[in-house]
Amino acid sequence: MKTIHNFSAGPAALPWPVRERLADEFSLDDAHTPSIAEVSHRGPRFADVAERLEAGIRKLAGIGDEHHVLLLQGGAHLQFAMLPMNFARGRTAAFTLTGHWGEKAFAESARITESRVVASSGDAQYRDIPELGHLPADAAYLHYTGNETIHGVQFEQPPVAAVPLAADMSSEFLSRPYPYADLAFSYAGAQKNLGVAGLTVVLIRKDLVERIPDGLPQYLDYRTWIDSGSMKNTPSTFAWFVAAEVIDWIESSGGLAKLGQRNRAKADRLYAAIDASDFYTNPVAPEARSMMNIPFVMADDDLTMRFVERAEAAGMPGLKGHRAVGGLRASLYNALGMDAVDDLVEFMREFERKHG
Ligand SMILES: *Cc1c(COP(=O)(O)O)cnc(C)c1O
Repeated sequence: MKTIHNFSAGPAALPWPVRERLADEFSLDDAHTPSIAEVSHRGPRFADVAERLEAGIRKLAGIGDEHHVLLLQGGAHLQFAMLPMNFARGRTAAFTLTGHWGEKAFAESARITESRVVASSGDAQYRDIPELGHLPADAAYLHYTGNETIHGVQFEQPPVAAVPLAADMSSEFLSRPYPYADLAFSYAGAQKNLGVAGLTVVLIRKDLVERIPDGLPQYLDYRTWIDSGSMKNTPSTFAWFVAAEVIDWIESSGGLAKLGQRNRAKADRLYAAIDASDFYTNPVAPEARSMMNIPFVMADDDLTMRFVERAEAAGMPGLKGHRAVGGLRASLYNALGMDAVDDLVEFMREFERKHG
């Protein structure tokens, strides 16, 4: 049987060798050893997972002693709230918006503290990266979304601003070399590039910690997680284990530089196929196009459901666009190889021949 290519935007495909490791970990042939999901998070077996995971994140993200690494639950959504609660009380949280997720982060922040959009490409359907406007004098930080998963818009490099940067990196974390050390704050759910849902990686530059106001609920105060090694309560042990395995896989497949090149080549091939056709269109300005999530529409929108169904039957699930924008979307996270893009492009050509 041909292996499937899973183009889901998240939860998303796992690298095949990681799936094999999981099958082995949960093997029914071994009735005598508990799996990693069945042991204490305070015991030595899990301590090894925790250590591997933090060390791997530090290495691949290129951060050193000046950052904390926190491994939390609650997804990116909890960070939409924790970030302003901890670091922006009494100041203005500034946002540059390039799509759906930035809007969500801004809306949550606005419930908590003074929040201002200083740049947005929303008036032009989020098709490019806007020029940064004037930053408020009391800006606590500038929040941006590294990669907008739904609109398919990505910052090539972090924006340049005279205030600390806070980035939602959920859908591009560890997909290419990136200057995380330059960011004051960044966060990413694991369910896109780093494994399964239930784990959110948060990187905090240590000097921010002194801004945290007293009186926050313990669970929502970053110091609780800094002081407990992210183990104030039971962590999502299975998600940590999977992420540690994904990191091993990244290292053993040549590291981030190699993965970044492969991700670039995958995206280039799909954009080239879209641009060469009159049948498929991607609306995003070339310099703002995402390497990870590629939304596209067909000349005849009524064909969308047929495309999605046929593709799934051909072993390519997950191509339906997000309900907020419709159309189609191919998510090309780390776990997918060039063969997945080749097969998709071939399928697209065939579909165009029949229906175009
Ligand atoms: C998936 C995603 C989110 C939402 O993540 P949750 O873990 O479901 O809260 C937020 N931001 C971006 C950029 C995403 O890709």
